[in-house]
Amino acid sequence: MPSTMDCLFCKIISGAIPSKKVHEDSLAYVFADIDPKAPVHLLLVPKKHITSLAHAEAEDQALLGHLLALTTKLAAELNLDRGYRTVINTGADGGQTVDHLHLHLLGGRAMHWPPG
Ligand code: AMP
Ligand code: ZN
Repeated sequence: MPSTMDCLFCKIISGAIPSKKVHEDSLAYVFADIDPKAPVHLLLVPKKHITSLAHAEAEDQALLGHLLALTTKLAAELNLDRGYRTVINTGADGGQTVDHLHLHLLGGRAMHWPPG
């Protein structure tokens, strides 16, 4: 698929582009954001290329649930017991800059609300 071959996160998942890997399983790949916005800033990415949350289909429901459950597990392992922020930017107005669905896990400092 051309979208997959051209996709930065597909290349990171395949190892073609290096990353600081934190976790990998059959469905997901997790790595450190290259430009962290908090002491902990991970990106949880489905191995399946889904362009954005707006492109997720009914068959992706379990995969989306897996990403959230994985967030819970990783946050506990990282001792983010004071809390953390999860973000999925979608499309231009959502601030999405990489067109492969990903969940940001941010922690280690108090977050602000509302986001900019
Ligand atoms: P978003 O703006 O929600 O699409 O998030 C994309 C994120 O990918 C940003 O936080 C970037 O800092 C991050 N990013 C871009 N390139 C890389 C890379 N090569 N390795 C790790 N993170 C990256
Ligand atoms: Zn991709």
